[in-house]
Amino acid sequence: MTSTPLSQAASMTPLAALQHYFGYDQFRQGQAEVIEATLANRDGLVVMPTGGGKSLCYQLPALLRSGLTVVVSPLISLMQDQVRSLEANGIAATYLNSSLSGGEVRDRYQALRAGAIKLLYVAPERLLGEGFLDFLTTLDVSAIAIDEAHCVSQWGHDFRPEYRQLRQLRQWFPQISMTALTATATERVRQDIQQQLDLRDPLVHIASFNRPNLYYEVQSKSKRSYEALRHFVKRTPGAGIIYCLSRKRVDELAFQLQHDNIDALPYHAGLNAATRADHQERFTRDDARIIVATTAFGMGINKPDVRFVVHYDLPQNIEGYYQESGRAGRDGEAAQCILFFSYGDIRTVEFMIGNKIDPKTGDPLEAEQKIARQQLRQIVDYAEGQDCRRTIQLGYFGESFPGDCGNCDCCLNPIPLEDWTVEAQKFLSCVARCEQRFGLVYIVNVLRGSKEKRILENRHDRLSTYGIGRDRTADQWKQLGRSLRHQGLLDETTDGYSILRLNALSWEVMRGQRTVQVAIPAAPNVPEEAEVS
Ligand code: ADP
Ligand code: ZN
Repeated sequence: MTSTPLSQAASMTPLAALQHYFGYDQFRQGQAEVIEATLANRDGLVVMPTGGGKSLCYQLPALLRSGLTVVVSPLISLMQDQVRSLEANGIAATYLNSSLSGGEVRDRYQALRAGAIKLLYVAPERLLGEGFLDFLTTLDVSAIAIDEAHCVSQWGHDFRPEYRQLRQLRQWFPQISMTALTATATERVRQDIQQQLDLRDPLVHIASFNRPNLYYEVQSKSKRSYEALRHFVKRTPGAGIIYCLSRKRVDELAFQLQHDNIDALPYHAGLNAATRADHQERFTRDDARIIVATTAFGMGINKPDVRFVVHYDLPQNIEGYYQESGRAGRDGEAAQCILFFSYGDIRTVEFMIGNKIDPKTGDPLEAEQKIARQQLRQIVDYAEGQDCRRTIQLGYFGESFPGDCGNCDCCLNPIPLEDWTVEAQKFLSCVARCEQRFGLVYIVNVLRGSKEKRILENRHDRLSTYGIGRDRTADQWKQLGRSLRHQGLLDETTDGYSILRLNALSWEVMRGQRTVQVAIPAAPNVPEEAEVS
């Protein structure tokens, strides 16, 4: 299907080119729109989950117009894969990165000068390196795509300082369409991308992040959890990934599973490159059923039939959890995502956060630590929550999902809803009396009449709401607070400090114009001292 010379592609419609070069019948949602915008020389911001089809959004316009499309991509292996598959479809593409010899680089420069290339993949270091932008201006560049664009943001999961420099592209190519693409959809990251890359009135396309075929469950972790895991793995057929927090835990768990005759291999950055490649390869071709890994495993893995992803330890944030668990069921068939949660894990993650220091000066990286702590709070909320897991995950990405998904533990085994309007009124009044300047734990402590120093210093023991909540446990109040947030009846600032804020709906609750239904277990199911504030 690839015998048509590229010069003829220019006269095709996008749909014809899709069918001709890529062999697909139709566009996925959003693709056509983004492609039209690029062809009209407009900037774009494309947010689609991994596997959603982002690449096509810049590859297809590259074929339909004269000149070169420059694709900035941080991952050498992905670059190579993409170029290979484009070439297989008869599309002139190439890449420049540190893996090439001097001779290879010269050949590629030659081809670029001759105008023989439609798509050039380049790593940011190369792009920003000595003289390269100068060189690019001598070529007929018609569009720029920035893949993994969340790397510009500290709020993303993979901040890369060099991405900030990509802003220079705008200065060097003021008239050219720039499209940023990412699978990271939080509002914060989106704003950062738009600002940092200086996108001008971009067409913004945000795809749904819902993965209906994935079942989500949280299990509380205890000393017997290994047994639970072993049973789960034995009764669940197909390939699976089990994530652990540290290399040591990966090694221990893989060993334990092997000892129990379960076909599992370890994967982490402490193994040498050959072993890692070997384990990944064996997993991909079904020679090993299970991989036990740190989060080092997964980037660029293309195994569609992973049937389960277990987080045996608490992930560090919801974003990471979404990405990692999302490696299950890429083929669209049912798959399970199980998270084991214990309060001990919170302390482990807090300890890891405390260790984030500047390698040069040894000073703590305070900004990063602050962000990480807030993200930890959110994943703990997720794990403790009784609300639809999907609603919370998608809410994290700014997507509203009505709940009752029918495919998560909370929706399948719901705790009956109860009317907690009066409690909600107490809670929200307490937020108001404390002047909307405090977080969840503080408010709960005031409600429960705690003698905490900070409360006494702030004279909050004199508030009318002080101690009015002794009839409920701290845990129940916290669950109520979270549930109010998930239901949109309360806001929380997200700039690093968690501060509860009232919104219009909060006032409706306080004025008795709205009732509050929540699913909160009758007895505390967690130890009281475990708090992240
Ligand atoms: P992303 O970069 O968003 O993770 P890719 O661009 O790699 O995703 O696309 C994921 C898969 O979906 C690829 O195999 C791609 O060829 C396929 N794909 C993309 N667009 C379409 C389409 N319109 N129809 C069918 N398959 C598509
Ligand atoms: Zn659900």
